[in-house]
Amino acid sequence: MTKKPFTPPCGTGCAAQMELFTAPAAPAESAEFDFDAHDVVIVGDSGGKDSGATVHEVCTRADKAGQLHKVRILHCDLGSTERGHLVEWPGALEVARAHAQQYGVPFAVRRSKLWGSLWQRIRSHGNWPGHFARYCTSDTKTAVGRDFVDEVGAELNLGRPVRAGYAMGMRAEESRARANKPVLERHRMSGKGTLRVVTTWLPVHQLDTDQVWEIHRQNSIEHHEAYDQGMRRLSCRACPLAHTDDLVRSAQLNPELFEEYADAEADMGHQFKKSISLRQIIEHARS
Ligand code: SF4
Repeated sequence: MTKKPFTPPCGTGCAAQMELFTAPAAPAESAEFDFDAHDVVIVGDSGGKDSGATVHEVCTRADKAGQLHKVRILHCDLGSTERGHLVEWPGALEVARAHAQQYGVPFAVRRSKLWGSLWQRIRSHGNWPGHFARYCTSDTKTAVGRDFVDEVGAELNLGRPVRAGYAMGMRAEESRARANKPVLERHRMSGKGTLRVVTTWLPVHQLDTDQVWEIHRQNSIEHHEAYDQGMRRLSCRACPLAHTDDLVRSAQLNPELFEEYADAEADMGHQFKKSISLRQIIEHARS
């Protein structure tokens, strides 16, 4: 965990964090989040740089509106592998906590109620997550976020469904699919028969990578040291959706974890990425 300003070439947080919270709709870049219309605003914080910028944007705007008391930070804990390696980058949780402490808002860590870890979920599934199999996100982030909204709703005991904002660090620059996402959108799990009305909010959607780092620099926001070691994204240390260059760098920094993943790759009989196996990634990392 470090505060040293750093500007990597580009980067993203978890490629899919809470993505299933949103459904396709037309972009609405100019939309303003209405704090008065919500009981609580939850910020999903993976400990990555986009999360840090998101926490800043949400808390700054909430404070200006006199609504900072409604903001809470949630870190979804992805647990450990069978051999005891954290699925996430060690220290990511602490960075997320530092974000909450900096802005003086409550911090919560929650894990899937069904799965002890993302590793357990992957092994149970018998194949790796992929672009068309985002069970990693839906089960260990989206469901956890939804449960936390319900938990806060029960705590507030309003006698009606809680109206929650759910802020995430997705940015248009990351992909065409993300560019098409609306900044504000009603969560599809909202509505009649549910305990919640959720508005997803992407407050840093229009920022580019340099602007995200500029926010960190100007406000002395904590960032994870993995960025200083050449990583461009955080969350899972081994993500099948990550660029191969990042995976090679991660394999250099996390050799034991990648050995365990490579053993699982052989055991499950499914290659980690279409383009490259974990064994090949490890070989690249050693060369
Ligand atoms: S494997 Fe991890 S980092 Fe990759 S998309 Fe799934 S939850 Fe996100």
